[in-house]
Amino acid sequence: MGRKKIFGLVFFLLALSAVFGFSRFAKTEKQDISVQKSQGSVENVQGQPVVVTQVAPLASDIVEPEKVISSAVPIFMYHYIRAYSNPADPIGENLSVSPQKFEEQLSWLKRNNYATVFSGYFKNPKAVAAKPIILTFDDGYQDAYDSAFSLLQKYQMTGMFYLIVNKIGTPGYLTWEEILEMQKAGMMFGSHTLTHSDLRNLSPVNLEKEIKESREILTQKLGQEVTDFCYPSGKYSDTVLAEVKKDKYQTAVTTNSGISSLKDDPFLLKRLRIVEKTNVEAILGK
Ligand SMILES: [Zn+2]
Repeated sequence: MGRKKIFGLVFFLLALSAVFGFSRFAKTEKQDISVQKSQGSVENVQGQPVVVTQVAPLASDIVEPEKVISSAVPIFMYHYIRAYSNPADPIGENLSVSPQKFEEQLSWLKRNNYATVFSGYFKNPKAVAAKPIILTFDDGYQDAYDSAFSLLQKYQMTGMFYLIVNKIGTPGYLTWEEILEMQKAGMMFGSHTLTHSDLRNLSPVNLEKEIKESREILTQKLGQEVTDFCYPSGKYSDTVLAEVKKDKYQTAVTTNSGISSLKDDPFLLKRLRIVEKTNVEAILGK
């Protein structure tokens, strides 16, 4: 009987000390928290005045809900930015958007919270504070500098220009000087091969040359790695695709129509062909 009482007492004391110990522990925790929270108060525990310091917010408290990684990325395709009307040249007309119309389109994009990104977005998507869009310009025509460049700057937008390397500096095409000036102002450049040949018909040696040599020349002249490619006239085959992937490229754009997504093959990016009559609002929606 006596033993049972002793055991009962010991058990009671143990239980009591456990509860007491836990509550002490809990109290210490609370005190720690209250000390952290009281930073910035004007008195310390002894009632002595202390320096009030600004407490920086925790990184996790800084919420920027408008910054998102969007998976849908429309890529606009332009060629000439020029006022051009010639019924005898319907292809030329169809590849031209007047500077006035181009400006209207940029203005609409700006008003509707679009921000220009580059093709690299597909390999390394970054959160942007607006809806991402890529503006591409094929062939490197002179009006890219004369018309597109200043309008892009006016709307704080950037363009992705795909250059036919052997055409650079020839009549009607951008010069290296202009390209470097545009690069300094934030424009980006990609390869549109050396000669704009139909890549499906080339020998393996020439195919490699068009893809690799054009990239190497651009990389050397621009002083930065060029990693974006554009198939001439949008024509490619499995062999062409494999050759581009084998080289140091990270993205390639086609003329296949549609809004690209981060889920797409970055070497088969779709684009939206923009012509004079295109209603940007109708193709992108609000
Ligand atoms: Zn082209």
